[in-house]
Amino acid sequence: MKITNIRFAKLVVPLITPFKTSMRTVENIEDLVVIIETDTGDVGYGSAPSTPVITGDTHGSIIAAIELVFLPKLRGMDIENLNGIISVIQSSMVNNTSAKAALEIAIYDLWGKLYKAPLSKLLGGSADTLKTDVTISVDQIDKMINDSLEAIDNGFDILKIKIGHDILEDVERVKAIHQAVGDKVLLRLDVNQGWSAKQTVYAANLFERADIQLELIEQPVKADDFAGLKYISDRVNTPIMADESAFSPKQVIELITNQCVDIINIKLMKTGGISNAIAIADIAKTYQVDCMIGCMLEGSIAVAAAAHLAVAKSAVITKIDLDGPALGRFDPVKGGVLFDKSLIKLNNLPGLGIESIDGLINLK
Ligand code: MG
Repeated sequence: MKITNIRFAKLVVPLITPFKTSMRTVENIEDLVVIIETDTGDVGYGSAPSTPVITGDTHGSIIAAIELVFLPKLRGMDIENLNGIISVIQSSMVNNTSAKAALEIAIYDLWGKLYKAPLSKLLGGSADTLKTDVTISVDQIDKMINDSLEAIDNGFDILKIKIGHDILEDVERVKAIHQAVGDKVLLRLDVNQGWSAKQTVYAANLFERADIQLELIEQPVKADDFAGLKYISDRVNTPIMADESAFSPKQVIELITNQCVDIINIKLMKTGGISNAIAIADIAKTYQVDCMIGCMLEGSIAVAAAAHLAVAKSAVITKIDLDGPALGRFDPVKGGVLFDKSLIKLNNLPGLGIESIDGLINLK
């Protein structure tokens, strides 16, 4: 099974409700789909969203990286030579983690097709379901309470609350949501780099004194502020999780060995795909640090790969935040992983299990 060509398409899915974080507001899930063709007629699917302020990648930059740098080296390579292909993807260009992720997802999809087994099983996993949390976008307090109650009605028992606008308003938001939902759900706070280290200590202490149990606080300070994360972790009991601070295995080693954080959020778009995500999960497991598997605002091709990885590494990936595809009004991907509210269900087909994709807009 040799690589003959790589094609690109766009996939747009309108959101049920606009997605708001402290950094942006978005109306649609827009993925760049990367389709790897082979001489056996098998095709591998990968995808990536545009996330310029997180990874620095856009659809245009991903296409350019693949066409100009990766495709000339990958054409003719045999899928059986997985290690060789991964080495080419990871060493031919620095950064560009979303381009590497989209490529690796499609390569691992083909690897599963070559050996006729689901990716999760080839990587050692056995489960076929996961349960995800749901994101509550930052908004007026009443709207956030309504969204939280609706999510609970829909079967979610973990809420990931997006805050990070203004520390005092954020504290009020969390208090009000906690009061409305009680202790029947777990609360995760994603600050998206919106607070200072001292503000985080202030807020965490306040929540602890008010008996508001938070499962974790995610990325309170700027991505490169490892000292700030350590300052916080030294002073609060609430678990602190790294998201935008944790891209590479080396960064994860630094975060863990310096006791900056308690949990690592793995996302394929940050790690540059599945190979480094496996490395990070194994590093974290070695240090007995839990991981979350997360995703960008993206659809069910790349998030399917994240679900397969989570199943394979379930001993260390104990927190699932893969609600991206379920936020869309429909899923254009047939077969593949089913995203139904809090339930994620893997099928038993080879690779990512994708049978067809509706509404692909071919780019070239
Ligand atoms: Mg985050």
